Amino acid sequence: MDVVAVRRALIDWYDREARSLPWRAPPGSDARPDPYRVWLSEVMLQQTTTAHAAPYYAAFTTRWPTVGDLAAAEDGEVMAAWAGLGYYARARNLLACARAVAADYDGVFPDDEASLLALPGLGAYTAAAVAAIAFGQAANVVDGNVERVMARLFAVDTPIPAARPELRRLAGRFVTDERPGDWAQALMDLGATVCRPKSPLCRRCPVAFACQGLATGAPEKFPVRTPKSERPRRLGHAYVLLDGRGRVALVRRPAKGLLGGMLGLPTSDWSAAPASEPPAPADWRQTGSIEHVFTHFSLDLTVHVAEGEGDFLWTPVEDARAALPTVFRKALDRALA
Ligand code: SF4
Repeated sequence: MDVVAVRRALIDWYDREARSLPWRAPPGSDARPDPYRVWLSEVMLQQTTTAHAAPYYAAFTTRWPTVGDLAAAEDGEVMAAWAGLGYYARARNLLACARAVAADYDGVFPDDEASLLALPGLGAYTAAAVAAIAFGQAANVVDGNVERVMARLFAVDTPIPAARPELRRLAGRFVTDERPGDWAQALMDLGATVCRPKSPLCRRCPVAFACQGLATGAPEKFPVRTPKSERPRRLGHAYVLLDGRGRVALVRRPAKGLLGGMLGLPTSDWSAAPASEPPAPADWRQTGSIEHVFTHFSLDLTVHVAEGEGDFLWTPVEDARAALPTVFRKALDRALA
């Protein structure tokens, strides 16, 4: 593989075709983007698309324009602003990291990969992305998109996850001191818009001339995957208790565990055979069920609704819709449909 030619072709393509994203500096620009904004966008983008993340990014940076502002925010406010982005452990880590930068680094992100990696919740990918994009360092930025591009470029036939160290090593062959942030973002753009997971657009690809996966005739077969075991299914009951005056009963979930510290509807446990245990005596009726897929299991919740009273966090329904994690918002919508 002619690494220099591939680098040049991809950087040239990036100079012409780079996606314009609110957290980015234009290609080749001397102005480096704010590390706070790079970090925030990368954390958001680990779990969703740029289109879905953009309004959240705009809301966060308007409300908390600096890492110090975010560090000073109330936990509950940040959790509520994060609702809809999923993976709430990341929102908790986001706050922990902002507070560490404020307390230990005077509100200025450290500029080397090792110190970034030592910050709470900041993994290898994010540390490398911030080091390359915000600080112009020759960091090897490898996520699932980059692994896919490398697996195809080099037709790596070792299955994921065993291939990961090799894919990282191959990605590292392209990293140099020359425009490392643009290189990382060029690879991200290639993976997102051209070398797509299901149907790569090889005819539009600037590095097709070197792609060994394309030469096999079936580049979409890479990266090779070991068959997945099926996600286990859990069942549960969710209870929508209304007070007749437009408010719904919510609870604060325990700090540890799934959706820890978030607002939620009262529910049974989530298991193979959960017992229905309504949170208050009332004339409960079933209104159907919803399904929600978490990383490690899928959940079927039977939704029950009633009017009643009790010791809860009584919240106007519209406020609850805005603050609740998606799984509970689905259950609330099902009850009110
Ligand atoms: Fe991906 Fe096709 Fe380009 Fe190869 S030629 S890197 S498979 S888009």
